[in-house]
Amino acid sequence: MTPRRIVIVGGGTAGWLAAMLLSDVAGRKGWRSAVTVIESSKIGTIGVGEGSTAVFRQMLHHLRLNEEEFLAATGATIKYGIRHRDWRRPGHCYDGPIDDPALVSGGLPLDTYAVAAGRSVGEAHLFQALLNKSRAPVARSGDRIIPAGPFHHAFHFDQALVGAWLRRKAGGIELIDDQVAGVETGEGGIAGLRLESGARVTGDLFIDATGFRRALITALGGEWLSYSGMLPVNRAMPFWVDLKDGEEIAPCTTAWAQKNGWIWQIPTQDRYGMGYVYSDAHVSRDQAKAEVEAALGHEIHPRNDIAINAGRQKTPWIGNCIALGLSSSFLEPLEATSIHGTIVQLLMLAEWIDAPGGRERYNAAVARQVDDFRDFIRFHYVTERRDSDFWRDVASSHPAFIRDRLALWRTRLPLPQDFEPFPLGLPHLQGQLYIPVLDGLGHLSPSAARAAMAANPALRAKTRATHAALVAEYARAADRCLPHRAWLQSLRARHGEASSG
Ligand SMILES: Cc1cc2nc3c(=O)[nH]c(=O)nc-3n(C[C@H](O)[C@H](O)[C@H](O)COP(=O)(O)OP(=O)(O)OC[C@H]3O[C@@H](n4cnc5c(N)ncnc54)[C@H](O)[C@@H]3O)c2cc1C
Repeated sequence: MTPRRIVIVGGGTAGWLAAMLLSDVAGRKGWRSAVTVIESSKIGTIGVGEGSTAVFRQMLHHLRLNEEEFLAATGATIKYGIRHRDWRRPGHCYDGPIDDPALVSGGLPLDTYAVAAGRSVGEAHLFQALLNKSRAPVARSGDRIIPAGPFHHAFHFDQALVGAWLRRKAGGIELIDDQVAGVETGEGGIAGLRLESGARVTGDLFIDATGFRRALITALGGEWLSYSGMLPVNRAMPFWVDLKDGEEIAPCTTAWAQKNGWIWQIPTQDRYGMGYVYSDAHVSRDQAKAEVEAALGHEIHPRNDIAINAGRQKTPWIGNCIALGLSSSFLEPLEATSIHGTIVQLLMLAEWIDAPGGRERYNAAVARQVDDFRDFIRFHYVTERRDSDFWRDVASSHPAFIRDRLALWRTRLPLPQDFEPFPLGLPHLQGQLYIPVLDGLGHLSPSAARAAMAANPALRAKTRATHAALVAEYARAADRCLPHRAWLQSLRARHGEASSG
């Protein structure tokens, strides 16, 4: 299919990412397609969703968008990973840095060495060192600003500001502020859209980015596959907390386990976006609010209390319509998989949109992507906590495949062959993301790691030397890097303040 007219319904992050990436693809493929975004100012966007993965930065580079300008204009901050507080047990903390030391380690088993030596696997990560010292990913060298290392970091941001910025950057896209009131279906999928104003819009390709409303895909008979039996939380209560003057901004998301779920804390340059993701089978809304206030030591003002129906479309691409963003899938934001998933889906779509069998490949790949994310999130819940009915219920309901995998990984650390490559070589879950979580939760066995290291003394010696060199080098690099908040402020001074206009 060569779509001459691409119609995107929804002006949230998913809709504008689709507009940017599909315009880029159309340009590269010489399609001369017209791209239209229909959004309704009466409905608005979800208003949460503020942690990305490294894929977002890769996308900025791909679209030749300036990262410094992005940071200044959207008030975004740097994210090196996720700090998990109180998950294994109250008082325990572990980090999940997102850089991959395998890029620089020449295939040496740094993680096995660390587990055998009783050290945290994070130590050999540059991002752990930068996170520990709250540093920017750049250092000053004479007159120049140089990157701290070769890895892609992620961001925290306010999705409304990012949506507005993407909209400003998107050239040549027609924007209609109206509401889709009816979907006319035909043999190939959607024949046309009826808007509230009475206008009718036709197209060759339709993107359903209408968020939880799923306005287009539902009209085509799209079915929602619920994960409610697999994931224990089902509500999210977002709220904001001010950043204090002069307070350093930690370059990580904090996921803080509570008695009935967990709190996310995501810093932007002006405030913390926070929220309690909880189970309403275990706690009421008022109790959840009181629980958060007791944990934080101050009153909160919830902005919403959202029902989370975790799951995905069984078939996200039906006929000429593709569901994207929240209309395609939703998971609790424990590993910031949503916007990441949207970008990867758009990259697959770009590749397969005009390829034979592309639709089937796309549907299978998205199903696998979201199911794998779900499983990864479930692993986070295999903890020692039994201090509430919530945690006792979670502990008694781990699916068999989770228990089997953990039993295997107690005999040896995860290996690359445990993770099937993702189609088109696109980024997906790998050992590099699993290992810090398994290590932090105490699922990796030091004795198995010691036995693996003892079997090859020469390899152990080389790994030990490389590990020591990396730890020392990263500590020095972090010392040289600029303080996170001061660097962000300098970007604002150079490029201008954040604004939602
Ligand atoms: C509690 C919570 C926390 C989250 N945290 C993260 C996170 O940390 N990291 C992450 O990656 N993701 C996170 N997400 C997900 C993230 O917010 C979304 O993936 C992202 O914002 C994209 O949303 P969207 O564009 O699909 O939908 P929305 O933002 O809801 O946008 C929907 C758009 O559709 C339009 N619309 C709806 N119906 C119609 C209609 N009939 N006609 C015309 N227009 C219509 C609206 O006007 C709006 O523009 C979180 C989500 C929730 C709920």
